[in-house]
Amino acid sequence: MQQTPNQSTSASSVSGTGHACAHCSQAFDVTEEDLQMLDALSPIIGGKKYPLPPPTICPEERERMRLAQTNHINLYERTCDLSGEKMISSISPDKPFKVYKQEQWYSDRWDPLEYGKEFDFSRPFFDQFKELSWSVPKPALFTAFQYDENCAYTNNAGKNKNCYLIFDSDENRDCYYSYSLNGCVDCSDCYRARKCTLCCECIDCVQCYESIYLQDCENCSNSAFLKNCIGCKNCLMCSNLRNKEYYVENKKVTPEQFAEYRALLGSRKSLQRAGERFAKLKLEYPQKYIHGVQIENVVGDYLVNSKNAYMCFDSEDLWDCRYVYQGFMPLKNCMDLQECGEGERLYNCSVVGYNANSLIGCDQCLQQVSDLLYCTHCFHCTNCFGCSGLRNRKYCIFNKQYTKEAYDALAGKMIEHMQKTNEWGQCLPMEMSMFGYNESTVQEYFPLTKQDVEARGWMWSPVPEQKDAHPGPFSNVPDDIGDTTEAVCKGIYQCPVTKKAFKIVEQELELAQKLHIPLPVTSFFQRHKERMALRNPRKLWKRTCSKCSKEVITSYAPERPEEIVCEECYAKAVY
Ligand SMILES: [Zn+2]
Ligand SMILES: [Zn+2]
Repeated sequence: MQQTPNQSTSASSVSGTGHACAHCSQAFDVTEEDLQMLDALSPIIGGKKYPLPPPTICPEERERMRLAQTNHINLYERTCDLSGEKMISSISPDKPFKVYKQEQWYSDRWDPLEYGKEFDFSRPFFDQFKELSWSVPKPALFTAFQYDENCAYTNNAGKNKNCYLIFDSDENRDCYYSYSLNGCVDCSDCYRARKCTLCCECIDCVQCYESIYLQDCENCSNSAFLKNCIGCKNCLMCSNLRNKEYYVENKKVTPEQFAEYRALLGSRKSLQRAGERFAKLKLEYPQKYIHGVQIENVVGDYLVNSKNAYMCFDSEDLWDCRYVYQGFMPLKNCMDLQECGEGERLYNCSVVGYNANSLIGCDQCLQQVSDLLYCTHCFHCTNCFGCSGLRNRKYCIFNKQYTKEAYDALAGKMIEHMQKTNEWGQCLPMEMSMFGYNESTVQEYFPLTKQDVEARGWMWSPVPEQKDAHPGPFSNVPDDIGDTTEAVCKGIYQCPVTKKAFKIVEQELELAQKLHIPLPVTSFFQRHKERMALRNPRKLWKRTCSKCSKEVITSYAPERPEEIVCEECYAKAVY
């Protein structure tokens, strides 16, 4: 494959040594470092090493397969198939699974070993594993429910209190409509915010306070519409500022002038106008080629405290990792992960962690898990292969208990079988996902139409579009927060874009009044999508610094209007 300087170095074409992807047939690269990592990750069972083969699918398609296994944001009402209680679940009621309320699922009221099966050497592994995995009951949500308080409508989240529609989020209080929040208080409509308080519409921000519409900012307060600012206070429509106070459009103003401008943002019309103006203004300032803090030898974007990370995105604390996305706690010697944390030697996994060691092809396995091969929803388990829904087990295969000796012998034979069927070392196939393509997280990153999805033989779920069908009549959200009263919490509103019905909750009104901003007129799903669109994609391009011509690998596509500079030139360009 030809490599030109401006070509996408996104996963499918990092240097294009010419492996044709088994899914999309694009050439992709398997690097020497990939092979070394795979050798190091190859499991040893009963004294014998079972080498992991090089991937046959390009990194992008591997990411697609992992993303398809989870549904974060689409929640449904249904009943618990064990207790009959009403509950909220990420699994829609039309799906063919038994779904238990978490309190029931984690209890001893059912036994996952009852679903045990003999492995059949005349059939492929994944067909049999799908049958088993789909027959075993599933927990309704993926939350640390024991530590949560008043958080029924949250998912892939834990240790939260009084939160509503927050996802991929931990240790927050009184937060709403957000994705990837950590340690935040009184925030709404944020995306990847850490330790922020009283913030709304803030994206990739750390330790910000009482602010709206900030992006890539740290330690800023009482501000609005800032990009790449650090330590700023009472600033509006500014970019690339350091430790400034009372600035509007990167110019010094008086406190009275600032207050006058800020007061205008209580009206939706003024806020929209300000947003449109800021979208143009921020392009006048150079952008650093990467979003990263404390990084060394990394290729990727949105990385914090990471060393030797290759093609990694949206992660913190990575050490010797490749193709890792949304790592949330330290990860070491890992490859091809989605949303994992606190683990070592993990390969082809999604949502595994909290002391996870040596896992291959696993999905949703957490808390003291080690030496698992192709397991789903297993907790506190070691040395298991092709199991689902197990807790506190060792030496199980297809949910059947074996002795160590019998486990080692059968596991070895199964790997040899999978080597013959070309399944060994592959990710969990798309067909194993419990979710329709359109309701799983994959639709946010690799959107496809219903026709495309069905043409590829994947599942499309009709449910997300139907679930908020409401006959109306619908009310209008007031334009100005000054004219908004508690009555707004009684109305039902319709999103003009998604047509979904939504309500305004009291806490949301309180926060909007405190921050002096109008209430939203679109649904959470649309706002979430718009915030995502403001972030850079998980793709990389080779470009040169606009000032010194040094080569950089960046997630800013060459056709984008921003001026992209290297680390050194950026340091000279901030004020
Ligand atoms: Zn491909
Ligand atoms: Zn430069």
